[in-house]
This record gives sequence, structure tokens and C-alpha cells, in this order.
Amino acid sequence: MTAATVLVINSGSSSIKYQLVDPAAGTSLASGLVERIGEETGHIEHKYGETVKEIDGPVPDHGDGLRKVLALFDEVGPKLSEANIVAVGHRVVQGGKYFSGPAIIDEAVEQKIRDLCPLGPLHNPAHLKGIDVARELMSNVPHVAVFDTAFFQGLPDEAATYALNKEVADKYEIRRYGAHGTSHQFVSGAASEFLGRDDLKQIVLHLGNGASASAVVNGKAVDTSMGLTPLEGLVMGGRTGDIDPAAVFHLVREAKMSVEEIDNLFNKQSGLKGLTGDNDMRGVRERAEAGEAQARLALDVYLHRLLKYVGSYTAVMGGLDAITFTAGAGENDSHLRAELVARLAPFGVKLDEEKNNVRSKEAREISTPDSTVRVLVIPTNEELAIARQAMTLV
Ligand code: AMP
Repeated sequence: MTAATVLVINSGSSSIKYQLVDPAAGTSLASGLVERIGEETGHIEHKYGETVKEIDGPVPDHGDGLRKVLALFDEVGPKLSEANIVAVGHRVVQGGKYFSGPAIIDEAVEQKIRDLCPLGPLHNPAHLKGIDVARELMSNVPHVAVFDTAFFQGLPDEAATYALNKEVADKYEIRRYGAHGTSHQFVSGAASEFLGRDDLKQIVLHLGNGASASAVVNGKAVDTSMGLTPLEGLVMGGRTGDIDPAAVFHLVREAKMSVEEIDNLFNKQSGLKGLTGDNDMRGVRERAEAGEAQARLALDVYLHRLLKYVGSYTAVMGGLDAITFTAGAGENDSHLRAELVARLAPFGVKLDEEKNNVRSKEAREISTPDSTVRVLVIPTNEELAIARQAMTLV
């Protein structure tokens, strides 16, 4: 009997990422990506073991994309009819106030995801396209929505509430929902397991192209850096993170910019990209090392913001046992980790340089035995986290 598997789908506005996961073993059996849906020519890549099959050609819509993916499973493997798929897990960015955990998708759940489109305009409409076609093409298994906001639904009110006029905030459901919750939940859980303790005050730093921090006490999130949308908080590849909202009024009044222009400016043309022209941490670091002052400034702004979050979360939690780095830059950029921890030296946090420089896909500790805070690197695995959450409902 083949082990139970979950097909994990992350549907974007013009893409579908997928992975067939064995949640019990924690392994990926096959994965792939459909890109440029609806454009003149699309691209599909399917990986199974050593085999990579690529197809170029038009993919008019999500339905066509998923049909082609299902055909690729049949042609290249593993055959889905023999894969013992027990659920399809869908990543959904915005679950608003409705979802504090995964949900089996039925008409009512789909409607709620639709109702939340104004709060997740970049993501939820795209997820719905994937959900619709997947439910149609794979109608024999349950489909489960796993929400990026769910881990943060239990934030204390004082952390979730903006000091905004209550009537307006209530009417328009403006509060801090957070994002990247699936990763923060997975990584903070893995850190607890790694350290063999549930009673932990920990900070997770998810530093990828999007970046966020969370404060987690005894397994429960008590604060997180993303807010109403994933724009708030840390400096990111293309996003400002925290900025005085009066910058918006100023740009409207002085630059006569529209809301759409400012949205694009803050979400896509800012952060590392806005400061240096490059949204990739590797490029920015190379330029800083070559002596470019503006690239160095970008890294310093990035680090300064990170340091402020670590400091404020330590105060909020009344202490700190562990800091865990995860995602692209967190897992791979040893310089970034060393630079942050160096700024925490006055508090007795110490890095073991040799351990910090090891490149590995394994969870590992990089602090010295006498460090006041244990510092870890734990690769995030959102697909596995989604698959495991989906399994809890089937
Ligand atoms: P993600 O969104 O998790 O895929 O992370 C993307 C970010 O990770 C980009 O800013 C990359 O530059 C960064 N990244 C990936 N590998 C490395 C590396 N070896 N050194 C520094 N940054 C890296």
C-alpha cells in the first residue's frame, strides 16, 4: 500500500506551483510550476526524481494549465491514480477573521475566500481560480484551504488592533492579520522540537523576498510584523515595510500620484530594489562588499529594522530563548546572520562562526554554548506544512 499523499497547490494570478508530498515521511515526490498563464507563450516544468520535463507553449487559463499538469503526472510520473492522494491542499494568503486553522473547501468556504478578496486583492482571486479548476478536475478527493493568516488569528487584541478610529476599523475590517503564518508555525514548531522544549519565548525571522518576523510564546504567536497586508514590517525585496502612512498623503498632494501608483511603488519598487535597483540580497551584498555606499546603506537599513523587531519582541515577550532564521536569505546568507547577531552582542548573544558558515539543508544551531539566546537555522517547508495541515482534516 502506497503511503497517503497530498497534492499541494499554490495558485497565483498567472502561475500554478504544485508539489506532491508524503506528509508522514516529510518528502516531496514530484513538483512543478506552470508560468505565464494567459500570456502569448507559457512554460511548464515538471520534476519527478531525476526527470525534468519542460513544455513551452500557450496556456490560456488555469484550467488548461492544471489539465496539462495532470497529463504530465501520467506521462512522466508518478501516476496519480496510483499515488494514493487523500487531499489537495491549497495555499490561501488571506483568511481574514474567519479561519484560525485549515478548512475543507465547500461552497461556503469558497464564498468566504471570495468575500476576502478586498483584503487580499493580489492573492485571493488567483487562489480561487486554482481552487475552482482543481475541484472540478479532481472531484474525488477533499480539497483543503490552508491560510497564511491562520497562525496569527489568535494574536492578542493589543497586537492585532491598530490605533485607528474604531468605527472605521470595524466597518472596513482593518486590523493586523499577519502573513507567512504557515511558515512561522512550521518553523517555530520545528525549533521547539529541535530544542526539546515547548515552553519557549522565540522569534522567527522569515527572510525571503518577502520578509516577516514573529514572536511566539509556548507555541502561540503573540506578535508578527506583517499587518493588514504583507506590506508592513521588515524591509523586503521590493516592499517598503514600515513607513509613515503620511508618505502616502504627501505623494498624493505633491507628486499627484494615484492610489494604484503608490501601491505599486510601495509593494514593488521599494525595499532593497528601491534602494539599490536590485531586489536580490545576493546582488546587494556583492555590491556592498565591492564598496558601493548605497548598497551598504540598504543592508544597514535592512539590519536596523530587523534589530528593532528583535528588540521590541524581546520586550513584548519579557525575554527571549531562541531566534530562528529561515527562508532564502535567512537560510543561506551567513553574513546577514552574523551582522544581526553582532548587533545583539551587548545582550550576550554569540554566534559560533564555524557553525554559521556551514551550508546545509538541515535544522542546526549556530550559537555558542554560552550564548544567552540559542540561534538556529531551520529551512522552512511551506508545502510540507500545508500537506500536514490538510491531513489533519481528512
Ligand atoms: P525566498 O523568497 O525564500 O525564495 O528568498 C529569496 C531571497 O533569498 C532573495 O533575496 C535571495 O537573494 C536570497 N538568497 C537566496 N540564496 C541566497 C544566498 N546564498 N545568499 C544570500 N541570499 C540568498
